[in-house]
Amino acid sequence: MSAAILPGRTIGIFGSGQLGRMMAIAARRFGYAVHVYSPDRGSPAGQLADVERTAPFDDADAVDAFVAGVDVVTFEFENVPAAPVAAAAAGHSVPVRPSADVLHALQHRGREKRFLADLGVPVAAFEEVDSLVGLQDAVNRLGAPAVVKTSRLGYDGRGQVRLLSAAPHHVAAAWQAIGRVPAIVERFVTFDRELSVVAARGADGAFAEFGAFENRHERHILDLAVAPADVPTATAAEAIRLTRRIATELDVVGVLCVEFFLTGDSELVVNEVAPRPHNSGHLTIDACVTSQFEQHVRAVCGLPLGGTRQLAPAAMANLLGDLWEGGEPDWARLLGWPEVRLHLYGKREARPGRKMGHLTSLGRSAVEAAAVVSAARGVLARRSVQPPAI
Ligand code: AMP
Repeated sequence: MSAAILPGRTIGIFGSGQLGRMMAIAARRFGYAVHVYSPDRGSPAGQLADVERTAPFDDADAVDAFVAGVDVVTFEFENVPAAPVAAAAAGHSVPVRPSADVLHALQHRGREKRFLADLGVPVAAFEEVDSLVGLQDAVNRLGAPAVVKTSRLGYDGRGQVRLLSAAPHHVAAAWQAIGRVPAIVERFVTFDRELSVVAARGADGAFAEFGAFENRHERHILDLAVAPADVPTATAAEAIRLTRRIATELDVVGVLCVEFFLTGDSELVVNEVAPRPHNSGHLTIDACVTSQFEQHVRAVCGLPLGGTRQLAPAAMANLLGDLWEGGEPDWARLLGWPEVRLHLYGKREARPGRKMGHLTSLGRSAVEAAAVVSAARGVLARRSVQPPAI
């Protein structure tokens, strides 16, 4: 293992959204310098970085110059063209964590699913398609309902369509809706709940996880994350076992998140793997000994992983741009809730569905924390809700 990259050195982050911002906060708390590579100026991460280099991800000269100025490269976003970053990093002897191979495996849904299926990890039955005829054949074989997802650049339900029947006009409409691009089609999973496991693997292979979180989505976007998940110990243990298996097989260095469907028969089905801190792990900032962002910094810098103990049951609610529809939300009123922590990402423009910030609350139980954080978010939209007496 190469030597640890100690505080005082420089971490280079590709991608500049809220995950990069919270990584930068954790890195700065440890005394690292932070350089951010961003397609946009004044980005959420760039606002907090020592250097924000603004260039497209496919600008090889800009990538090379950026990599030359840092001691380790990491990502807050897996859809960065990985090969040019790897080539530049090799030229400057700078470690890339997680590796370009990990990004390559996970930035294409077909490759990701094949990797998981080959490992023997349970996934929804799927096929890869690149034409309308291919999609029709695949849906005929898999059966409906099914979900069609673009192979690349899908997130928060974008690039995704549900197919209710195999009738040719439905299939044609779905093909049109995803933009007639290479895709996967997978069988619809009837699930009871959605879970995630956020974990980290150190440069020395050490593994640490934060347990199983329960996630609730609205319009395919994460709405609420609750920890610990109210599931049997054996279910949480199996989710963690699968996460460890995936992390080890990928040889990840850094944080990764595995998202699961939990069916009514208590079967776990892996939906997605993200090689980075994850929205469902934001509550670790306020609820755990080490946050997922500090853990990522520790891992990519070759430091020992931090303790993942959760100090109290917790819940996180996302703040989407929709909350800005009637003007700036009433932050002062929200902050009258003493148990609620506010995180905003410095995004200048609020749009419906855009993640602008989140709230976290701790509670005596996960149910209580979820109730408090949901009600607190309610005051931003409905001005009459009062803080509960706790
Ligand atoms: P994804 O972009 O793959 O993370 O999907 C976003 C959300 O869509 C998931 O969190 C699920 O709520 C839903 N979803 C995705 N794939 C499936 C599936 N095969 N069956 C049922 N629901 C799905």
